[in-house]
Amino acid sequence: MSAPLGLYVHVPFCTVKCSYCDFNSYAGIEDMQSAWLEAALREITLWSPSVAQREITTIFIGGGTPSLLEGESIHRLLDHSLASLQIAADAEITLEANPESVQLERLQAYRAAGVNRVSMGVQSLHAAELVFLDRIHSADRAEAAFSDIRRAGFDNVNIDLIYGLPGQSLESWQDTLERVINWHDSGPDHISCYALTVEEGTPLAARVAAGRVIEADPDRVADIADWTAQRLSDAGYEHYETSNYARPGRQCLHNLTYWRNQEYLAIGPGAHGFVDGLRYQVVRSPRLYIDRLTAAQTEPLLDDLPSPAIEAAERVSEWDHLIDTLTSGLRLMEGVELMSLPKPAERLRPTIEWAIANGLAQQHQGRLSLTKRGHAVANEIFVRLLEVNP
Ligand code: SF4
Repeated sequence: MSAPLGLYVHVPFCTVKCSYCDFNSYAGIEDMQSAWLEAALREITLWSPSVAQREITTIFIGGGTPSLLEGESIHRLLDHSLASLQIAADAEITLEANPESVQLERLQAYRAAGVNRVSMGVQSLHAAELVFLDRIHSADRAEAAFSDIRRAGFDNVNIDLIYGLPGQSLESWQDTLERVINWHDSGPDHISCYALTVEEGTPLAARVAAGRVIEADPDRVADIADWTAQRLSDAGYEHYETSNYARPGRQCLHNLTYWRNQEYLAIGPGAHGFVDGLRYQVVRSPRLYIDRLTAAQTEPLLDDLPSPAIEAAERVSEWDHLIDTLTSGLRLMEGVELMSLPKPAERLRPTIEWAIANGLAQQHQGRLSLTKRGHAVANEIFVRLLEVNP
């Protein structure tokens, strides 16, 4: 069997659209849920012969808000994946959830369907911050949802948090994090702490441009990041990626696939996949996605790719693969194995030497990784790598 694959399934439904979100998610299209499911099942069927020799070791049902789906829908999705693809017996199967849509009965159905990891977007436990982000849950609801996730039998749970909100004090963030790591006595198994980024085209970006929102002071954001790394390390979480912390053995295996620049199949509207050296993108519009997969004419638009919902694809050059490996792998504390890099990596030597000489990177036992200072200015290092001529 060839190298394993991850599988990403994109669920485009949300209850409301958050002001900062640039994911391919939509509020008010719930009536498309059953058509979306049929289209996704069809897409899996179409991919099946092409990836028959690849074992699927992780599945990530993301979005959007997959916890809006009934247990029966997740059952059908996973049963069909099992019947059509080579799913490893011990595959990590994650489902993303939001506190307001988490229900005990549904969680139990997800568990029975084979989901073994839940990732819940909490972001903050402060009412004003939640309002700023357009989140519709309360702190109490988030904690109750976490208890329900545990009660449903999930022993691998991630909580997403966001820091660096405009005007957010260190104390406010500390209060959110302290409460989360003490939920249900021992807290979650994995915590993702993302600094708020203002993404182009979002309502938040418009508010910033109009001067109605002033972005957080970068020094304060850096202080929060430093405190977070120390606090979570003290609480027994390993800082294994720029924004991610895990209890021993609880790293997110699916996301490691991305950071290690390994291949993954992706289905669902707007999903990006990487299979057999090709990076591809599925059409973003849920309506078009459904139409292309359910129309009688199902010829693929692009050669080599079986799904007619794929609208763009390109073969990754050796140089681009190298740059992708470095810019994603250096986000990991483990860094990248130098021996595994293809020959053109020699052209990056001066940039790597510059990073080492400036205390931003280190070379140890054949691996290149960023130092603490390097992680703080990782984007600057990545820009320098991208500027090197292939
Ligand atoms: S719930 Fe998540 S995916 Fe949906 S709009 Fe908000 S941030 Fe985006």
